[in-house]
Amino acid sequence: MKYARFSPVYQMNRLKVYAWRRGGAEGRSQAAERSEADGGPQRQDPAARTGNESPIKKSMLNESRFRICGLVALAIALIGCNSGADKIYKESKIVMGTVVEITVAHHSEEQARSAIADGMSEFQRIDDLMSSYKPDSVVSRVNQSGSAGKVPVGEEVFRVLREAVAVSGDSGGAFDPTIWPVSQLWGFDRGGSIPIPELLTNKLPMVGYKNVIFDDSAFSVGFKSNGMGLDLGAIAKGWAIDRAMEKLMARGIRKAIIDAGGDLRVIGTRPGKDFWRIGVQHPRDPGALIFTFELRDTAIVTSGDYERFFVADGVRYHHILNPLTGQPARSCQSVTVLAPTAAEADACATAAFVLGPSEGLAFLRARPGVRGVIAGADGQLHWTDTALAEMARR
Ligand code: AMP
Ligand code: MG
Repeated sequence: MKYARFSPVYQMNRLKVYAWRRGGAEGRSQAAERSEADGGPQRQDPAARTGNESPIKKSMLNESRFRICGLVALAIALIGCNSGADKIYKESKIVMGTVVEITVAHHSEEQARSAIADGMSEFQRIDDLMSSYKPDSVVSRVNQSGSAGKVPVGEEVFRVLREAVAVSGDSGGAFDPTIWPVSQLWGFDRGGSIPIPELLTNKLPMVGYKNVIFDDSAFSVGFKSNGMGLDLGAIAKGWAIDRAMEKLMARGIRKAIIDAGGDLRVIGTRPGKDFWRIGVQHPRDPGALIFTFELRDTAIVTSGDYERFFVADGVRYHHILNPLTGQPARSCQSVTVLAPTAAEADACATAAFVLGPSEGLAFLRARPGVRGVIAGADGQLHWTDTALAEMARR
């Protein structure tokens, strides 16, 4: 059986995970706080946009005020003053180790709230499936089995793994969902420490996406060698955002933001506006935005070296690892990717981060519908296309 990658079925209608892997509330919140302008009744927008429209609308509007609190991105709603039926409903919850915030615009509070509840449940469900830290998760069962045999993982986990490994291939191994033996050593989920060099040397050969065995007929997965392990930390949160958005759509929601620790997907627009405004945190100034975008119907995900890190002897050690060396990747401060689905944006942001500005841009440009901006190690910005650079407000 062949799996369409990032299939349109999910696009139709798309931890930062370190903390997520620990599960529960002890994880550090990465949520960006939004200053939703919660002013009164909002005008109901026209029907859903057509697929031909640009996902990014150039700004006609200007300064909204926003506060920054948290790590990656802010969804900033503009003050809409038109009268109408849609109102904004918003709820947040700690799940996957991060603050997930779902914002919905709808005329029925009941419908909005039940949609939000459905969306939140999806995060919990996917965490239970894909966390490497939960001993009973499907992914943990694979990790525990070593090379003993293939483990049935079910269609969904199988598919995420297939997609992850495909990104590994496309990125020449910069992205590798078998990074677990090494990521576990660094332990960024619990603060992090420099691994004993011999241990790292021993574990590094166990990282290798080419050594994952797939059985498409049984949706089962195994490893070619012992000591291997899966870490879906760089894609699972994006996947969860997509699944949660599907739940919202199934409840009739057409205007929403799902923000999982600053990784977002938006559909439709804020009532009374023709976009949602999204801000991305400055990688070296937690109190500032590096830029904002005015977006509709897209995912936007950032990988950054500021999300989970510690400093030792003046050196920053962070959670995005180069699978070749087992060390934190050194070429970037952050990578922000826009893509049709959050899963793709999530995986691509991590991959491009490891690849660095030059190869990372080439990698992003090669993917249809994907664009982004890379802040190199020196802070310089590299854009996939000038149109995106022009759309960003700084
Ligand atoms: P992200 O924040 O989406 O860039 O994902 C970072 C997380 O993915 C880390 O906390 C690890 O769990 C995992 N990870 C680290 N390095 C890699 C890599 N090179 N490829 C895939 N996953 C990685
Ligand atoms: Mg990622």
